[in-house]
Amino acid sequence: MRYISTRGGVEPVGFADAVMMGLATDGGLLLPESIPQVDEATLKRWAGLSFQDLAREVMGPYVKGDISEAELRDLVERSYASFSHDQITPLVKAGSLNILELFHGPTAAFKDVALQFLGNLFELLLEKRDQRLNILGATSGDTGSAAIYGVRGQPRIDIFILHPYKRVSPIQERQMTTVLDENVHNIAIEGTFDDGQRIVKELFNDLAFKREYTLGAVNSINWARILAQIVYYFYAWGRISGGDVLQKATFSVPTGNFGDIFAGYMAMRMGLPVERLILATNRNDILSRFVKSGVYQAADVHATISPSMDIQVSSNFERYLYFLVGEDPSRVRELMGDMGEKGRIEISEAQRQEVARIFSAAAVSEEETKAQIHETHEASGYILDPHTAVGVRAARDFPNAICLATAHPAKFADAVRDAIGIEAEAPPSLRNLMEKETRCAVLKADRETIQEFMRETLKNTA
Ligand SMILES: *Cc1c(COP(=O)(O)O)cnc(C)c1O
Repeated sequence: MRYISTRGGVEPVGFADAVMMGLATDGGLLLPESIPQVDEATLKRWAGLSFQDLAREVMGPYVKGDISEAELRDLVERSYASFSHDQITPLVKAGSLNILELFHGPTAAFKDVALQFLGNLFELLLEKRDQRLNILGATSGDTGSAAIYGVRGQPRIDIFILHPYKRVSPIQERQMTTVLDENVHNIAIEGTFDDGQRIVKELFNDLAFKREYTLGAVNSINWARILAQIVYYFYAWGRISGGDVLQKATFSVPTGNFGDIFAGYMAMRMGLPVERLILATNRNDILSRFVKSGVYQAADVHATISPSMDIQVSSNFERYLYFLVGEDPSRVRELMGDMGEKGRIEISEAQRQEVARIFSAAAVSEEETKAQIHETHEASGYILDPHTAVGVRAARDFPNAICLATAHPAKFADAVRDAIGIEAEAPPSLRNLMEKETRCAVLKADRETIQEFMRETLKNTA
C-alpha cells in the first residue's frame, strides 16, 4: 500500500515511511492511496474471528509491501498480550446499553489499543533500518502514560515525556513516573501543559537538533494509530450482528482529536455496515458545532471532568476534510489556509448534508455527564467513566448504539465519586501506584534546559 498526503505535496510512500514520517512533510496528514474493500462474504467470515485474527485481516492490505504476514502476526500477538481481557475489546451489556470496553490495556484507557501496537511497530521498523529513535512529547496526562507503556524496554527507542509539575492528577503522574525502564525519561516542567507543548514544538523546529537526535512523535496523527483503531469497529459489529450483513450498527464515540471516530469512518468506507456515527463532545464543542452548522471554528478551551477531550482544534479533522471535498488536495490546502488566516472553515450546504448523512453530533455538559453516570449506575450497576458517559448521553436517541468506553472509571475516580458517591474498583494496573518507586526529573520550563537534559541523557547511547 502507498500513502499520500491530504495536501498533495508528498511523493507516495510505503507504510513504513508513512509511520516514520508521522506528520506529512508538506504539513498535511498521510492517508492510504486507496481504501481496501471488504465484501459480504468476508464480513461474514470476520464476524467469527478473535480480535487478534481480525486485526491481522484488517491491517494486512494496509501494511502490504513493508511488513510480512509473519511479522504482522508477531506484532499483533505481542501488542495485545499486555491486555487483561482475553477478548481485548469486549462488547458488554449494561442494562440495555451496548458498551465496547476499550480500556483493558496497561494504562486503562483506549489509547493503549493503538500505542501498544505502535511501540512494537516502531521497534520492528528501526531494527530493519538499523536506526534509533528518540520520542519526544508533551502530555496533559493520558497520552503520556500510554506512549510510555507502548515503548518501555524497547532497545532502539528512548522516550522523553514532559508533563506540567503537580498539574496532572496523582494517578496520571504515578502511571508515568513509576515506569523505571532505562529508556523512559519523565520530565516534570515547572510550568503549564502549554509550556510543554511550546518547548516540544521548538525542539522539533530546531532541524539540526531534530536530525542529530532523530526525534519522532507519537501523537494521534500517526497513521498506524488510526489503523489499529479500525479493528475494534469490525470486532464490535461482528459481536452484535453475528455476521448478518443486513444489520447496520450505530457507534457513539467520545471525541477530541477526531482520531477514534475517523477510524470508524474508515471502517465504514471499507464496507462495514454502519448506520450512523455519533460524534460526542464535552463543552469543548468545535466538532459538534461543525456537524450542525458546517462551520469549523475554534473557541476557548475549557477544563472539564472529561479532560482527554478538552481540545479545540482537532488534529485528525483534516483527514475527514480530504474525503469530504472529494479527495482534492488543492481544496484541502485552500481550506486549511482559511483556518490559518481567518480561524475558520466553512463548507457548502451540499457538503453539510453529506456530513449529516453519516454523523450525528451532541455536546454534553458537565451536569449531563454526571447525571448520565448516575442514571446508568442506578439502572444497571455499571459505572461509566466521564468520557464514556459523554458518549452514552449523546446516544440517548439511538437505543441500539454501540457506545465506545474509552477509559476505566477508576482512572477518573473524583468525577465518578461526585456522581454516584462511590468509586469503581481499580484494575490491577492502577493498584498500589502510590507505594511504588518513581523516577522523574523536575526541570525549568525552558527549551535550553530540556535540550541539555536530553543531550546528557543520550550521551551513553550509541
Ligand atoms: C484521547 C481520549 C479521547 C478522545 O479520542 P480522540 O481520538 O482524540 O478523539 C476520549 N477519551 C479518552 C479517555 C481519551 O484518552
